[in-house]
Amino acid sequence: MSEAKDAVTKQPLARDARASGVTAGVRPLGVMAALPEELGDLVAAMGAEGEVRTVAHGQRDYHIGTVHGTPCVVTLARIGKVAAAATVSALIHAFDVEAVVFTGVAGGVGRDVRIGDIVVAHSLVQHDLDASPLFPRFEVPLLGIARFDADAALAAQLAAACDDFIAQEGGALAERFRTAQPRVHRGLVISGDQFIASAAAVNALRAALPDALAVEMEGAAIAQVCYEYGVPCAIVRTVSDTADVHAPASFSTFLVEIAGTYSSGILRRFLQARG
Ligand code: SAH
Repeated sequence: MSEAKDAVTKQPLARDARASGVTAGVRPLGVMAALPEELGDLVAAMGAEGEVRTVAHGQRDYHIGTVHGTPCVVTLARIGKVAAAATVSALIHAFDVEAVVFTGVAGGVGRDVRIGDIVVAHSLVQHDLDASPLFPRFEVPLLGIARFDADAALAAQLAAACDDFIAQEGGALAERFRTAQPRVHRGLVISGDQFIASAAAVNALRAALPDALAVEMEGAAIAQVCYEYGVPCAIVRTVSDTADVHAPASFSTFLVEIAGTYSSGILRRFLQARG
């Protein structure tokens, strides 16, 4: 990513998003991750395909261009629900994205979710949101919703890209990274402003949300903002750890050594199919 960043001059945000470099007449796809490793080769691939314009806004860099045939605005949210909500709001308002896709890693919570598996969110819950007894636990106060659905069509496209990726590269990934043969799961992803790293914490989450497959720190915030503005969103997570005492070490190794390979492989297939 740094090469692409160095190759362009950062610009302040123009009042009119289209004037800031978005392809005229085409609403781009917003692509987000929390951390640079989670974007894989996406910004480099954008630079290899054509001009990349980088716009600085709200302490984030937004890379505007075409990747694998699809006009995109690519950015990093950093970690946590507020960071994710602020960033996706900017994608919607300043860059006029037509839909949002988030890619990253997560802790596995479902009993048959293993490190190296992929989870595509069908729905998302903020597991740390609790205004009870005024409102039911997990419900967003005054919105009346606890579970936010990903866009069904977008999630299906993303899951299809994951299926292709695993069918074509799963065996090699398992061998190279010494994981089990990876699988693709679809279901509930839960988000909160906590890194979950103990059996007790996982058990508490399982007891409260028995169908949760993965836990992370951004997805449900993005899904809430997208719901409020009527923008389709989909979220894919590769399982970097199992949210237990081994999670900090497992997360760190997976992030640095493996996460980018997954994101690159999944996003390439997903964007080529759209483009
Ligand atoms: N110490 C790390 C912080 C990582 S936070 C650092 O300095 O970079 C973990 C990130 O990965 C978040 O963006 C979250 O969405 C995801 N994640 C992976 N495993 C997780 C887990 N067990 N609990 C919560 N989030 C997790």
